[in-house]
Amino acid sequence: MKEYDNLPLLAEKSRAEFLQYYKKNKKHLEKLDIFVHQLHEEVSEKVDCLACANCCKTLGPAIYDKDIDRIAKALRVKPSEVVAQYLKIDEDGDYVFQSMPCPFLMPDNYCSIYEHRPKACREYPHTDRKKFVQIYKLTVKNTATCPIAYEVLKQLVKK
Ligand code: SF4
Ligand code: SF4
Repeated sequence: MKEYDNLPLLAEKSRAEFLQYYKKNKKHLEKLDIFVHQLHEEVSEKVDCLACANCCKTLGPAIYDKDIDRIAKALRVKPSEVVAQYLKIDEDGDYVFQSMPCPFLMPDNYCSIYEHRPKACREYPHTDRKKFVQIYKLTVKNTATCPIAYEVLKQLVKK
């Protein structure tokens, strides 16, 4: 994904434009879910997550009890062992991985627990969620990490 090598820089350059769009179109944005979801689909088809894995390398997803149970079952260990071996509690009181890159990220960028990965991993970068307007500002932040978030906003503000 050569074109995204400078993603933090590209995101920084577009930040003001993204935030300006939000300010101007906030009310209108509430009706734009279908369009944003279409953009999400189109962009996701073109971006190769396996050539990126930025989220798995740098962000710490929140991990909930159901995630822990599912991972424990997949690894055939007790939930308490998953907690002891892989997790810590962050400043918001959520479980997160003890360190990043994620311990389940393999050298080829595949996730070794893909079928059992945490809900937050499945949903990232959230550009297909309902009421996208509610996470618009979070998405602006995500543009520095995620090419999908960046492209979705780039195309949205061009509209
Ligand atoms: S940061 Fe975005 S593009 Fe990169 S692997 Fe994660 S979801 Fe895919
Ligand atoms: S559990 Fe899998 S999808 Fe989630 S951060 Fe780790 S490697 Fe990525």
